[in-house]
Amino acid sequence: MAEVILKEVGKTYPNGFNAIPAVDLHIADGEFIVLVGPSGCGKSTLLRMVAGLESITSGELTINGTVMNKKEPADRDIAMVFQNYALYPHMTVFNNMAYGLKNRGVDKATILKKVNSVGDMLGLEELLDRKPKQLSGGQRQRVAMGRAMVRDPQVFLFDEPLSNLDAKLRVQMRVEIRQLQRKLGTTTLYVTHDQVEAMTLADRLVVLNKGNAEQIGTPLELYERPATPFVAAFIGSPSMNLLDAKVADGVLSIGANIRLATDLSFNKNVVWGIRPEHLECLPESAPNEDADFILTVQAVESLGAETLIYGTLEGVETIVVVRLSGPHSPELGSQMKLKAPSAKWHLFDASTQQRL
Ligand code: ATP
Repeated sequence: MAEVILKEVGKTYPNGFNAIPAVDLHIADGEFIVLVGPSGCGKSTLLRMVAGLESITSGELTINGTVMNKKEPADRDIAMVFQNYALYPHMTVFNNMAYGLKNRGVDKATILKKVNSVGDMLGLEELLDRKPKQLSGGQRQRVAMGRAMVRDPQVFLFDEPLSNLDAKLRVQMRVEIRQLQRKLGTTTLYVTHDQVEAMTLADRLVVLNKGNAEQIGTPLELYERPATPFVAAFIGSPSMNLLDAKVADGVLSIGANIRLATDLSFNKNVVWGIRPEHLECLPESAPNEDADFILTVQAVESLGAETLIYGTLEGVETIVVVRLSGPHSPELGSQMKLKAPSAKWHLFDASTQQRL
């Protein structure tokens, strides 16, 4: 059992920079939590505070009820896997994996058993005698995982562990990490830049914005009900279309020309959002008045299984993205008639940035 609780955990660096004001996070035993957010939002800082590699300057971190703030990394019963794997180059795979156990005075027979069993689990049986430089990137990554696993830690911490791998291997390792974590049931905190990685791995995601947990929820909750435009833009690829708009007297206006009927009863400036996959394309023959707006096509990205169409709306500066399944090849400069079903709208208060 390993429950990790952050109570108003904060970090002010010695130069006075407040990287994390105060984060509250309750990680259940066996849960897989992914920290996401743009570069510099504080993901690594938060992870390193849990690891004990960075001091906590306010608040409290507990693992299974024990306050960890002042404990050395080695006394926290956690194992961390880094982006660069941090393997010892002069040691064999076996010794890299055995190192932590040897240091803790574990007896030889137990080490042999543990390393062999984790090696088998990760498909490293044949590689135990090799040095890191004789391994592929994916194999090195597995050794780094193996080194964390042999210790049977209460908590796994991952700092962008797949970012040095090519796209195909990243997908494969992503699946492996998820399967292993489920099998071992180890509480996990994982940092990534990668949208898809975050969405597919996480039980719950934490979206960090300038050191604040802007929203915490399951991938689907964040996709379906983002709390702010920041989260709306961050979750989902391509990003949600977000346009400045105004609701008044039952009409939503975008720019000078677009008017959409709504049953909204408030009058407010809003940020109006719709995901690229929720815009519907009407046939060319449809009458103009059936469309909510007309998109002038500026660029087309054909990805085979789907097509992304970028374009402009009259009187609106922001580029709008439409995602259609299958191949499509509209001419650049041509016009597309689009519907934006109101059930798929996301509305945020323009001044508070909160979901309406
Ligand atoms: P990335 O995705 O680029 O790795 P991140 O979300 O992991 O970014 P952090 O590395 O946690 O972000 O950094 C958070 C903020 O704290 C950044 O603004 C960074 O410049 C600042 N920071 C990091 N380390 C220090 C330090 N030792 N002293 C002062 N500020 C720091």
